[in-house]
Amino acid sequence: MKKHAIIPIFISHRGCPHRCVFCNQKAITARSGDVSVSDAEKTIEEWLTTLEGRDMEIELSFFGGSFTGIPMEDQTAFLSMAKRYKDSGRIDKIHCSTRPDYINREILDNLKAYDMDVIELGVQSFDQKVLDASERGHSVKDVEESCRLIHEYGFTLGIQLMIGLPEDSYESCMESARKTIEMKPKVARLYPTVVIADTPLAAMLEEGVYIPPSEDEIVRRTKDMYKALTAAGINVIRIGLKSNELIKGDTYHPAIGQVVRSAVARDDIEEALEPMIEAGLRSLEIAAPPELFNYAVGHKADNKKYFSSKYPGIRFTFKEDKKIEGICVRKSE
Ligand code: SF4
Repeated sequence: MKKHAIIPIFISHRGCPHRCVFCNQKAITARSGDVSVSDAEKTIEEWLTTLEGRDMEIELSFFGGSFTGIPMEDQTAFLSMAKRYKDSGRIDKIHCSTRPDYINREILDNLKAYDMDVIELGVQSFDQKVLDASERGHSVKDVEESCRLIHEYGFTLGIQLMIGLPEDSYESCMESARKTIEMKPKVARLYPTVVIADTPLAAMLEEGVYIPPSEDEIVRRTKDMYKALTAAGINVIRIGLKSNELIKGDTYHPAIGQVVRSAVARDDIEEALEPMIEAGLRSLEIAAPPELFNYAVGHKADNKKYFSSKYPGIRFTFKEDKKIEGICVRKSE
């Protein structure tokens, strides 16, 4: 499969009328500034100097706010620039992220006219209680309707979910995963909640109104959502926010994606090794292809330590194996 590269263009949604409790709009706007079409072109050209000529699928992505919430003429200016790049063959796909309530036929007609490929929705949760407590300002019905329309127009759908928002629970996370599967997105991103300074959520934390789930609980919810989504064929392309000057603090774990993927690997390994131990094998090899080897061993070698201490009579070896596709447990030579 061709490698995939993303050229990110951050378009802030200045004057966003919403007040999502986790969002620091001022800081987002300060970070992405007032990006013009020519700024975006400069960014694209810079990225293309390193990407062009390599055998890669190049996707131009409008991130950072609610792309379809900005005035229609601004959307069109960015889209026609993006389409020129696509028509010339210098990029392969156009992608945008937006809110579920900024999707309607007029918006989708415009996106279609400029050859948009992927629309990613910031859904965050399918639990109305969680959406209300986070002051998202849209309903679960809005999400369902926008997903339906996006499919009707033939766009690729992406869904972003957050874990650990106010009123969130293990059950509501699993319900969000179940409903996401029902919406049939091709891709998903899972974002454990990070409390950013100068947000209503930071104030709620300070006042004790919001108590974030423990790290173990965040990992448990994210891991089980990841397992449910991937089992349904949905490609989970990201777990956790990328660090920047805003994204830091006690609730930010820079390696949460690695921790979750390692926890998934641990479950898979344990499931595979139990029948082998029951069959009397005492020397087992856990093999993984290079791209999964770190997950098999675990974040900070946690899985290695876990298996040795849980099964003291068993000798475990970990081996990288380019010839296999997934993690497997086999009898040690
Ligand atoms: S997260 Fe919410 S408040 Fe922040 S820009 Fe998006 S819609 Fe507006």
